[in-house]
Amino acid sequence: MFRSFLIKYGEIGVKGKNRYIFEDALMKQIKYGLKKVDGEFAVTKDKGGRIFAEVKSETYDHDAVIEALRHVFGIIAFCPVVHVDDTSIENLKKEIVKYVDEAFESKDFSFKINTRRAHKSYPMTSMEVDAALGEAVLNAFPETHVDVHDPEVDIRVEIRDIVHIYSKEIPGAGGMPLGTNGKAMLLLSGGIDSPVAGYMAAKRGVIIDAVYFHAPPYTSDRARQKVIDLAKLLSAFSGPVYLHIVNFTDIQMAIYERCPHDELTIIMRRYMMRIAEQLALKNDCLGLITGESIGQVASQTLQSLYVTDAAVETMPVYRPLIGMDKQEIVNMSEKIGTYETSILPYEDCCTIFVAKHPVTKPKRQVIERSERNLDEVIDGLLEEAYATEELVIVGRE
Ligand code: ATP
Ligand code: MG
Repeated sequence: MFRSFLIKYGEIGVKGKNRYIFEDALMKQIKYGLKKVDGEFAVTKDKGGRIFAEVKSETYDHDAVIEALRHVFGIIAFCPVVHVDDTSIENLKKEIVKYVDEAFESKDFSFKINTRRAHKSYPMTSMEVDAALGEAVLNAFPETHVDVHDPEVDIRVEIRDIVHIYSKEIPGAGGMPLGTNGKAMLLLSGGIDSPVAGYMAAKRGVIIDAVYFHAPPYTSDRARQKVIDLAKLLSAFSGPVYLHIVNFTDIQMAIYERCPHDELTIIMRRYMMRIAEQLALKNDCLGLITGESIGQVASQTLQSLYVTDAAVETMPVYRPLIGMDKQEIVNMSEKIGTYETSILPYEDCCTIFVAKHPVTKPKRQVIERSERNLDEVIDGLLEEAYATEELVIVGRE
């Protein structure tokens, strides 16, 4: 019965030229989301800047459209809309009754009809249409009653060349459309946190590239596949993800052989950051994103974060989860659908070589001095790591 979806989006702070960028990006993402849905759709914008996803095919998968629109950042809410071609009042009365009948299982609610006319040439005023249609609904469904001040159901009737009827508002994902805030490089591990961090940055309109460090043969193909799967889950929100897979084995071995074992984690982390930064520069990313939050583990004390951060020279490191508790992050990963995959028990390259008692308060100068033990080999190892980088693109249509 519904033939289009009215897209509601926030316009606060989005004015002038920015408004077009925002709207165009939003329309692009809606199209991307609907590509996966059975049916044909057109995404349009009217003169008033209102965006509609219109159904062009005879039939379509209604639930899948709702699911797809719920994944599009920038949408605050959306309304399934019924189209009526015959705009005569007699026909509208019939259609409004049919609408209420089909859209609401229980009719025990208060409502108000809210008519707007695009052309004032329509033979009745908006208030006359409100009254006529309200009466039709009341006659057909005596359980309903009118409440013009605080109705449970606000039925919108928009008279244009055709008539739009809608009332249901489905909450969207909020945020800003992808592509309105540049691109950043997500350090994506197989854990719970980093996919959530990626989601949060994407929610603010940031396009996500990702890098995953693995250590074959110490980490398995299944661990690698798990990260690809996580990137795919993320791509349902973030659009296609370019996932760079970097072989970290030899660098890790060199650190293990040449540096104090209680400093392994922090030194490894610094090399991950350095490599991620280079990949970010090469791929037009404006920052790094990690899943760290203060104090969660030894490598995330303020001192550790300071020393980790110091390895990055040219760009900011964004940590969207910085102030969240683990349980809050878990809840969010359940909500976005990455949790089940994240908890699969495959080995992680960081856990293989970790010391029993890693330093929790690393000193920058001490760590830098230890890293000098790598001087002879590190350039070659980094070169090798870049040369053998694999690119997996997930979520592309
Ligand atoms: P996560 O749940 O995201 O794995 P974590 O709680 O396990 O996080 P750490 O292992 O300390 O935390 O990792 C901190 C951050 O470093 C991760 O959130 C991620 O951004 C990055 N990171 C860790 N390991 C890897 C890896 N193998 N590949 C890419 N990034 C990684
Ligand atoms: Mg981890």
